[in-house]
Formats: sequence, C-alpha cells, structure tokens
Amino acid sequence: MSKGRIMVVDDESILRMDLKEMLSEAGYEIAAEANTGELAIEMAALHQPDLILMDVKMPKMNGIKASRIIEKSFNIPVLLLTAYSQTEDVEDAKKAGIVGYLVKPVTEQQLIPAVEIALAQSQKVKRLLKDMRKLEEKIEERKLIEKAKGIIMETHHLNEESAYQKLRSYCMNHRIVMKQLAQYIITHQSFDFSVKISS
Ligand SMILES: [Mg+2]
Repeated sequence: MSKGRIMVVDDESILRMDLKEMLSEAGYEIAAEANTGELAIEMAALHQPDLILMDVKMPKMNGIKASRIIEKSFNIPVLLLTAYSQTEDVEDAKKAGIVGYLVKPVTEQQLIPAVEIALAQSQKVKRLLKDMRKLEEKIEERKLIEKAKGIIMETHHLNEESAYQKLRSYCMNHRIVMKQLAQYIITHQSFDFSVKISS
C-alpha cells in the first residue's frame, strides 16, 4: 500500500520528473501531475490527492492562487515549492492555507520529511474534524432524548428519573437505540409502552 497519493505541479517537466522519482522511491504514489495552476485545480478535483506539491512561479495562474482555490474547494493540503524566499510570497501563502514551504532546488533530504509532516498534519486535522462531528451527533442525540423524556414525563405523569428509566428499559427489552425511540416519541408527541416499534 502506498504511503500517500501525491500530485506534483510544476511548469518545468524536468523538475516534475525529479520530484516524482524521489516520491516514488520513498513509497508514495503519484496521483496526478500538472504544469499550470488551472490544470492543477482540474486535476485536484478529478484525483483528490492526499497532498499537492505546488510550484509558485508558473505562467498564467501562479501556484499560490491555485492553492487558494484548491484549499477552498477541496480542502487538500498544499506544500509550496519556490525558487524565492520572499516574505511577500510567505504572507500570500499563509492566506492560501499552505501547510509548508520548500525552497528550490529541493533535495530528497528536505522533501521526504516535509511530505511526511504535511500528511501527518492533515491526517490529524481530519481526525479532529471526525471527532468533532461525533461529538455534535452525541449532543444532538442528548437533545432528542431530553425532549422525548419531557414528553413522557408530561403524558405519563412521571418524574424525570422514572421517565428516563422507562425509556431505558423499553430500549433494552426491544433492542432499539434510545435515539430512535426518542425520535418516534417526538414525532407522535406521546408513547404507548405496550406497543412494539420496529427497529
Ligand atoms: Mg516554475
């Protein structure tokens, strides 16, 4: 299995070849390549690489502008390659959501660790986003259960603890999840505990 799918963008074919060779030898898969910013955007959409190595100086659309569009549209991390270490470029790059910066000529000793770090960082961000979504789902579920409990308290004249216990034992006896029961109760605004709802 490859260590990651990488897209290589540079207007100079010799440099692209060098980069591709270094990446392949280190166990990375070349997802796609491009020689202009416009093509980079198209290829990013089509191949959804894990990481993009992007030259800054290219004819027509430059690498920073292309990175900004790619970041906004596809959320793919970009490692910039530049022949210049001008502060102006760095400032622009920050705005484009660049994960790193390599100054040409790029050696294998520089490239591979930078790629590894960039991929690890983006994995971390993806994991954090996943955890956040899970947490949001849990909060949403809690809200539903609270609401359903309120309905049961009112319609069955129960206190909070008894209403919750009744919901819980119903779920255990009928092997359904609390969220499903809560949704059913909210939809019907009441519940007959002798009825079996399908799971
Ligand atoms: Mg160039």
